[in-house]
Amino acid sequence: MQESGAIAVAVGDPEHQSGWITMYAPGDTSDIVIPSIFLAKSEYRALLYLSKIVDTPMMILLQLDDFITWPLLDILMIIFVSPSIMMIFIYISWQVRQRRRKQQEVASVDAVSRLLVKQFLTEKVGENEAEECAICLEDYVNGEELRVLPCKHDFHTFCVDAWLTTQKKFCPICKRDITFKTKGAHIQHGQEAPLLIEP
Ligand SMILES: [Zn+2]
Ligand SMILES: [Zn+2]
Repeated sequence: MQESGAIAVAVGDPEHQSGWITMYAPGDTSDIVIPSIFLAKSEYRALLYLSKIVDTPMMILLQLDDFITWPLLDILMIIFVSPSIMMIFIYISWQVRQRRRKQQEVASVDAVSRLLVKQFLTEKVGENEAEECAICLEDYVNGEELRVLPCKHDFHTFCVDAWLTTQKKFCPICKRDITFKTKGAHIQHGQEAPLLIEP
């Protein structure tokens, strides 16, 4: 078009109703000095129509859009930026879900502190009562403070408190949920019946 004397080129899209295409040439275009513009189908049709009804020559003003001056910008956006944003979004939602799941699995410090505490006394140990902590496997020492869970299993206070608040809210021995309401609780289908504890 430049060789034939054109001062500018308007490329009309014969197929798409609307939308823009960023034009670029695969080869060397350094010797091209005339500007060119892309027109969507509707604009192309309007221009064609005007050129037929107007007798005098039309002047078309081509305006440069600063944002789309680099033709590869949108391609790079699609290739690099979009997947990165998607990955960040997936990672954040995964983190949030992990944290929420972790919070549901552990007991609150408040709930643990409300559990019974007793002192281990050698002379008062019953026949079926444990004499060692099932978490650290150490024998209880006379006078040591033990935490008694609703299921009646006991452990060192510091051992079981750490387990309940950071690992699982279940008894390490019988797997009973320590946050389960013991009285007047609604038992759902398939759930283990809660242990009733009389004061
Ligand atoms: Zn222990
Ligand atoms: Zn238990």
